[in-house]
Amino acid sequence: MNCPYCGYQDSKVIDSRDVNDGIRRRRQCLSCSARFTTYERLQPSSLFVIKKDERREEFNRDKLLTGIRKACEKRPLPTGAVDKLADDIEAELYRLGKAEVPGAVIGDMVMERLKSLDYIAYIRFASVYRAFTDITALKQEVDTLVGGEAGVSHPVSQLPLLPSEELERVAKRRRRK
Ligand SMILES: [Zn+2]
Repeated sequence: MNCPYCGYQDSKVIDSRDVNDGIRRRRQCLSCSARFTTYERLQPSSLFVIKKDERREEFNRDKLLTGIRKACEKRPLPTGAVDKLADDIEAELYRLGKAEVPGAVIGDMVMERLKSLDYIAYIRFASVYRAFTDITALKQEVDTLVGGEAGVSHPVSQLPLLPSEELERVAKRRRRK
């Protein structure tokens, strides 16, 4: 661990304590005497996703990002919002400190965040992830969203819902498959 001030490679530990999920160490640079803090956390070297059929697949951030991007396609979201979402989920996954995570857990994390970001993206993602079999199931989900809108304040980024137009598009897409 190099000193963040002068780059010297050696420091001494002046204080060490357990924090929630790791160890926090106060250090002092042996060259410039600057003090800094390091955190040591347990992190599995790689994270595996448990698929529906019980197969394990190594967690792949790009794959996650592609899925979210697809759902957010052509939505007027702020630059970097999609990447940040993927980053947040990745960080949360590693914070769990587990070697394996069910795919459903990741899907739920995405849904939860998309719901507060953009309803259309949420519905698109849900229609793929939850594999809505028909328009009725999709409509139910939309109705739940619209129903829950009254009295609930949304972030400024939340856009008005255009259910009929979007539903038709999703339905068409599903029929083509
Ligand atoms: Zn230093």
